[in-house]
Amino acid sequence: MKKINECFICVECGKEISLAAKTCRNHCPFCFTSLHVDGEVPGDRASACKGMMYPIAYELKNSDYKILFRCAPCGKEHWNKRAEDDEIVSLPILIGKYKERFMK
Ligand SMILES: [Zn+2]
Ligand SMILES: [Zn+2]
Repeated sequence: MKKINECFICVECGKEISLAAKTCRNHCPFCFTSLHVDGEVPGDRASACKGMMYPIAYELKNSDYKILFRCAPCGKEHWNKRAEDDEIVSLPILIGKYKERFMK
């Protein structure tokens, strides 16, 4: 029987992302991009958009980071908790970089 390989290649940075230990991983831990796949309920995969979502802001709440993502094509925004293996130190730099993409 073929084992299901729960990995995907990030479309933004090209790194391989393992989904094995994570149940709700939906953004890349290296470049923090994700795809707009969810509709109104997180995890429902009901969105037909499938656009790229980029982090645009973050806040520290109860010693946990929350990240605000915005979809580039449709403008939908949603908050997401960081994942444990996110490279959180590079997040402020990346937010600055992605800002340019929303000024077009
Ligand atoms: Zn990436
Ligand atoms: Zn979208």
